[in-house]
Amino acid sequence: MSIIENNKIEKVIVPLHTREGMGVGPIRNDFPILDKTIYGKYPLVYLDNAATTQKPRVVVEAMTEEYYNVNANVHRGVHFLSQQATELHEGSRETVRKFLNARSTSEIVFTRGTTESINLVAQCFSDAFMKEGDEVIVSEMEHHSNIVSWQLQQQRKGIKLRVIPITDDGRLRMEEYEKLFSDRTRIVSVTHISNVLGTVNPVKEIIRIAHEHGVPVLIDGAQSTPHMKVDVQESDCDFFAFSGHKIYGPTGIGVLYGKEKWLEKLPPYMGGGEMIKNVSFEKTTFNELPFKFEAGTPDYVASTGLARALDYVSSLGWDAIEAHERDLTAYAMQKMNEIEGMHIFGPKDIEQHDAVISFQVGNIHHLDMGTLLDRLGIAIRTGHHCAEPLMHRLGIEGTCRASFALYNTREEVDALVAGINRVRQMF
Ligand code: PLP
Repeated sequence: MSIIENNKIEKVIVPLHTREGMGVGPIRNDFPILDKTIYGKYPLVYLDNAATTQKPRVVVEAMTEEYYNVNANVHRGVHFLSQQATELHEGSRETVRKFLNARSTSEIVFTRGTTESINLVAQCFSDAFMKEGDEVIVSEMEHHSNIVSWQLQQQRKGIKLRVIPITDDGRLRMEEYEKLFSDRTRIVSVTHISNVLGTVNPVKEIIRIAHEHGVPVLIDGAQSTPHMKVDVQESDCDFFAFSGHKIYGPTGIGVLYGKEKWLEKLPPYMGGGEMIKNVSFEKTTFNELPFKFEAGTPDYVASTGLARALDYVSSLGWDAIEAHERDLTAYAMQKMNEIEGMHIFGPKDIEQHDAVISFQVGNIHHLDMGTLLDRLGIAIRTGHHCAEPLMHRLGIEGTCRASFALYNTREEVDALVAGINRVRQMF
């Protein structure tokens, strides 16, 4: 039975799909917003997780608690609250270190998000190691933040972008990647998972090949950290960027991981308090890692929220999360492919396609699809997804995109499929 009846979505009730001991029902109770009614439709079907994820109570409550009971500026105070806030903030850095399996907290820089992390590397790395005509390798499926950051350095320093092409089904053409290396290649900067195609890129292989050429690699982990266990030592990446808000944490905080040997050689990104050792008008010396890259008051409350989010995800276990999300993606691909006129972008092989499904139905404009699904209480994203060069490659203006998180269910996929069919009948 369709769960959309009389223009009304019935309450999606347990039993929710469970797998390997992971029951989604209780987890959904951790996210109050999932209980919301939108346009009289209950409950909200939230499938815009690649843009941002919803926040569990533990994250919001930890941040509220810190503002009410601990709040004081970190690092500089001798007083009790400042020391307590500093302990929390530096404890959060240790949580991030463990989460990424970095060697040391010196390698964990707090930023405002993936965008700032990538901009930091693009600017500081090109200042330290690149001159006119030197090259960075990116790919055709990058988010704008991993294109424009480098284009700014193109304008400042005359560096060049070399682009790994993709196959028609949205995979990197690895044989072309190898051919892009030249004696001017200084860095490779690619996404782990495409925010449009859901493609899981073979980052270990990408890194291995780059290292054979003596070239470091930055991985954009904005879309991978919420969905899979990341181990920066195992992959051997040189830099890794991610955003708190995409992994159930707060907005306004993210992380740049960098191997100490690289971070030490990079100049500071911004000037201000905290990033200095001594300042005089004649000479200023800079703080040790990671503080050299953290000018000004950090968002120490958001770092607490991020740490609680990472703890939350870790407590559920990666095996369970990956199995659940893989099941959801496979189920969604199967059900969506049964819809007349459906075209799904990206790899067909579920091993290479994770949690993000971009689609187009016949010639229904993505904006119409998104707007009508919204009226049914189903939130998806539409447009170019900050990946215009990829849209050009695919010869389209935009797509509809459904993206999953650990709290989504098969019933929500059914609601999406029923919703798409309903919209299709209107055209
Ligand atoms: N990279 C990828 C692959 C993304 O999907 C996003 C956001 O959607 C970003 C970078 C930018 O992340 P933020 O806006 O959190 O800095």
